[in-house]
Amino acid sequence: MSRELDVVVVGSLNVDLTAGVRRHPQPGETVQATALTTSAGGKGANQAVAAARLGARTALVGRVGADAHGEDLLAALRADGVETAHALRDESAATGTALITVAATGENSIVVAAAANARLSPRDIASARSLIASARVVSVVLEVPVETVCAAARAAREAGARLSLNLSPVVDLPGDVLAAADPLIVNEHEAREVLRIHGSQVPEGEVAYAEALRQVGARSAVVTLGARGAVVAEPGHTEHVPGIPADAVDTTGAGDAFAATVAWRIGRGDSLPEAARWATRVGARSVQHPGAQPSYPELDQLTGTTE
Ligand code: ADP
Repeated sequence: MSRELDVVVVGSLNVDLTAGVRRHPQPGETVQATALTTSAGGKGANQAVAAARLGARTALVGRVGADAHGEDLLAALRADGVETAHALRDESAATGTALITVAATGENSIVVAAAANARLSPRDIASARSLIASARVVSVVLEVPVETVCAAARAAREAGARLSLNLSPVVDLPGDVLAAADPLIVNEHEAREVLRIHGSQVPEGEVAYAEALRQVGARSAVVTLGARGAVVAEPGHTEHVPGIPADAVDTTGAGDAFAATVAWRIGRGDSLPEAARWATRVGARSVQHPGAQPSYPELDQLTGTTE
């Protein structure tokens, strides 16, 4: 079967509305914003943009509302070369929206309205079956319904595409879906949550987390450790991939960039540790610039890398 696409991402698209405030309002109180910015976000869209910037042939399966925000999000994806034929406009819902306030102290408070993301359905996955079958890697991320995540994972498995599952935020998944994850990608907090959900003891030291995730059923696992890089566990091999030193100014979306890079590289035939090494470079680059999508590099902006 021909694999025309490197990565098909299944996941969320959000518009992020960020207001700067001197302090957060108390319940019932109104405060004036000092600044307001609108930016493209959502874990699915972030991953798709990160992969496409690196040169991966990428498509996104998702839903936005039939409103101006949705139009803008789709236009931004297309501008980055992401195929959006299965990023659907939903006439009955608003575009997913994150309402973010950032106080002068730097403390965030965030309200997320899933809106159209909550309506991405197993039927949408069935409609995207031939797209999924044309992918080397299907990268599934949450913020969409669990039954849709399961449908996407099973469609990938049936099509013989490799499944990368970024279980963020964490939900309880059926065993067959977890077993198809190759890799399961989580950060260290999420790793602890997955282990707790499965009644498994959280081991001492994060290096053991990835191996523990394999023991609860994932085929392979990657646990990201912020500045310390990531731990990779495959059958018979566990490895710590160190972080790349970086002057971090904003870590928003670093995990999405990391997961996108892993998906792209394993589709190109890299081993999981090799893919994670690429991903730590992209993650480190992304934390040195503000925002999520605006911080993602083009391939030639990565230092010390060769294809
Ligand atoms: P998440 O954003 O999902 O919580 P992490 O914070 O673990 O995920 O970050 C994902 C990846 O981004 C890390 O594995 C690492 O490669 C990179 N990264 C994150 N923070 C830093 C940092 N301060 N310095 C260098 N790399 C970083």
